[in-house]
Amino acid sequence: MLKLLAEYESSKRAKSFRHTKIIATLGPATEEKTLLQSMIRTGVDIMRLNMAHASHQWVADVIWHIREASSKVSRDVAIMMDVKGPEIRTGVLESPLTLEPGAVVVFHTTDHICNQPNTNYVSVNYAGLPADVEIGAEMLVDSGLIRLSVIDKDATSIRAEVRVGGMLGSRRHINLPGVHVRLPALTKKDEDDLRAGVAAGIDFVALSFVREAADVLTLRRFLDGLGSRAKIIAKLEDQAGLDNSEEIIKQADGIMVARGDLGIEIEFQLLPLVQSKLVQLCQSYGKPVIIATQLLESMMNSPMPTRAEISDISTAIRERVDAVMLSGETATGKYPLECLQVLKTIIRSTEPTVQKEINNALSLMKPKSKMLRSAAVLAQELGESGIVVFTRSGFLAYTLGALRARNVPIYAFTDVDSVFRQLLFPWGVEPFRIDFSDDPEQTIACALRILRDKHWCEQGTWLVVITNALASDKVIDTLQLRQIE
Ligand code: PGA
Ligand code: MN
Repeated sequence: MLKLLAEYESSKRAKSFRHTKIIATLGPATEEKTLLQSMIRTGVDIMRLNMAHASHQWVADVIWHIREASSKVSRDVAIMMDVKGPEIRTGVLESPLTLEPGAVVVFHTTDHICNQPNTNYVSVNYAGLPADVEIGAEMLVDSGLIRLSVIDKDATSIRAEVRVGGMLGSRRHINLPGVHVRLPALTKKDEDDLRAGVAAGIDFVALSFVREAADVLTLRRFLDGLGSRAKIIAKLEDQAGLDNSEEIIKQADGIMVARGDLGIEIEFQLLPLVQSKLVQLCQSYGKPVIIATQLLESMMNSPMPTRAEISDISTAIRERVDAVMLSGETATGKYPLECLQVLKTIIRSTEPTVQKEINNALSLMKPKSKMLRSAAVLAQELGESGIVVFTRSGFLAYTLGALRARNVPIYAFTDVDSVFRQLLFPWGVEPFRIDFSDDPEQTIACALRILRDKHWCEQGTWLVVITNALASDKVIDTLQLRQIE
């Protein structure tokens, strides 16, 4: 294994290259302009805006600042807006409530409540809550830290008894494992958030608590209506999402294994098994997959990760996930840049040891898609090589990423701005934005020149190029061997 690492490190590739992408959530800890620049320079590929805690003005400002920081450090990043979907939250409290076991909490959905002594009143953002929960149901608040059982309900409130106590702050998430919540897949708030995001230029939308494939379609139609081509990442985070995962994966552009909520909604010991299963399923459909939540939780307050966190991240990389995601670590944590460095270091040392075999679970239908597999095999065989691909929709590059050819960078050239940033997501894809010429030969020459001039490839490197070519009067698909001059 160490030998493998040494070989990888001595690679003649001029620029450092990484298959696994990094997603970082922005927040108070990182919205400052110079810090944004440092994050982009350190290697963030996608910036996530978590709409549980964001105003529309903040969205507009921060997207502007990201683009500005990007152009300052000459490195592009994509922007993912994470909308909350059917998520239930408690309201704002003037001061945190201390809840002891045995205490009673009234969760109310209207403002008209009569205060009774010795009762804690907490508002919730979902009017249908009393109708959806049964007496006896379990309520988990704030990542399951506080646990209650429903003991009574009326049309506008539910009474619950505290089983496991704790401090309840404002706007905490409520999980109701196994309960079918009748909130729509896309709430009014999500729609407002999306309008603001689309106006500011988001590249991806992550939809929380996707329960069935139709939820993805609902979002797609809404985005179409706004004229947005943003790609959709379905967050799988409860039992319904898992039950329908295959159909959801087929419908979405990518998947997030949202371990935070999953770890509450299902038995926690199943989490690693579910993670592996979902990663495999995504790979068999050629859809990119993100592992999210608590990757470096201890680094919220410490500059060093725990041993368990190092192992967890390394496992995800060996599963060949497309991206790893930081949440609180970069949004509110004390060590956002250190977290990025730690991720990069683990990625760098683990990637040379991931399995070398091309992803054979991916079934490729069309002849041109089948050609991609040959390109991946050929580039691996050449060694110190790479694949050059030209794409307007991004599809060819997404598929090449899904093939998981270890140590083969996929240099994807596109002439569409939005597609360019969306190509920052799949495994091993390094995107470039160029204008295409009517003459494919000129486009290839331009691409190879960029790879040489920007130090991605040295002179003499053999590359596998997938391109159109003119044969007599026909445009045909070709796979070519080209050397950098
Ligand atoms: P969240 O989603 O951070 O928006 O809750 C991720 C998760 O649940 O893991
Ligand atoms: Mn979640």
